[in-house]
Amino acid sequence: MSTDGVIYNGLKIAYKDYFNFLEYLHHKKLVYFNYITYKVISDDEDESTIIRIHVGDIIEIEVENEGTSYAIVKAIFLHTYNNDKTYPFYFVNWFEKVKGKNGFDTLMMCQKYKICTERERYLNIFSISLVTSMPKTHFVHQCADNCLIGGHDLSQPYLLNEFFYNVI
Ligand SMILES: [Zn+2]
Repeated sequence: MSTDGVIYNGLKIAYKDYFNFLEYLHHKKLVYFNYITYKVISDDEDESTIIRIHVGDIIEIEVENEGTSYAIVKAIFLHTYNNDKTYPFYFVNWFEKVKGKNGFDTLMMCQKYKICTERERYLNIFSISLVTSMPKTHFVHQCADNCLIGGHDLSQPYLLNEFFYNVI
């Protein structure tokens, strides 16, 4: 990673926010993974959950004053801090609701989301500790001709499919 890039800056902010680490980052190497599995320990052993997130998955993040927000995982990586301990992070792109009439798919009866392009959500790197439950919502991509398996054309929207969960 280069020291003037988005990842470097995001990583510095993430270290500050989650661990209160404020130093210049000595190690520049990032190790990328296709997926990550970890266990979220609860006081009650029965309540502990196994989390397994792949690159390309859509995760839910609770945002202060805004409730649940959605983001797509673009990368999962490890970085070693100056204390020689290694920390796992998500790099995400935020979703935003498609506003107005176009934002609602009347055939599928669901809200459309697209990758957020506005600057307001510039924090894109998070400690994995932020994701403590498996995504409960279901997104379906409105695929275009140039979508590939594992590589959707992100200029096309995703549909939030709440309807699967109302059936039960
Ligand atoms: Zn697609």
